Amino acid sequence: MEDALKPYKAKRNFAITPEPADGGEEGAGVLSFVIQKHWASRLHYDFRLELDGTMKSWAVPKGPSYDTHDKRMAVQVEDHPISYNRFEGTIPEKQYGAGKVIIWDRGSWQPLDDPRRGYAAGNLKFELHGHKMRGKWVLVRMKRRGEKQQPWLLIKEKDDYARPAAEFSVVDEMPDSVASLPEL
Ligand code: MN
Repeated sequence: MEDALKPYKAKRNFAITPEPADGGEEGAGVLSFVIQKHWASRLHYDFRLELDGTMKSWAVPKGPSYDTHDKRMAVQVEDHPISYNRFEGTIPEKQYGAGKVIIWDRGSWQPLDDPRRGYAAGNLKFELHGHKMRGKWVLVRMKRRGEKQQPWLLIKEKDDYARPAAEFSVVDEMPDSVASLPEL
């Protein structure tokens, strides 16, 4: 876990940024997820899934869509500490990721296959139990074409929660923080 957080720590100056340096407890039999809405140089949604004591993280520029036809680009970024799940605040100017961060959604996730095998194979199927994020989703790793960061796609899988984009946009209709809502 220490090693997994090395890139995270190397990018940040914890004397200046309010982000956590370390820590956070693993879920007891439950795996946590969080999506942070981050107004950095460009607005994006940071999607994080707890696995093996760390938060696997992807930056999703457009955020999730409940439309099974939408394939949302999800660029893999450095693993984050589990304590990051509670972080809301403003990363100061000139610091890495400068800008405001809110907890857009959080809850638990349930792998539908062996999560380590799925992650390694680049095909991670799971169910989300959040305030906004529900039902079945998949992350699919793409072929890298010279990009520095590994691109994946976040896609809604068919189930009773799926809805056409013309009828529902979760990011537009549910824009705010869930930090004040009870934890799921
Ligand atoms: Mn971010």
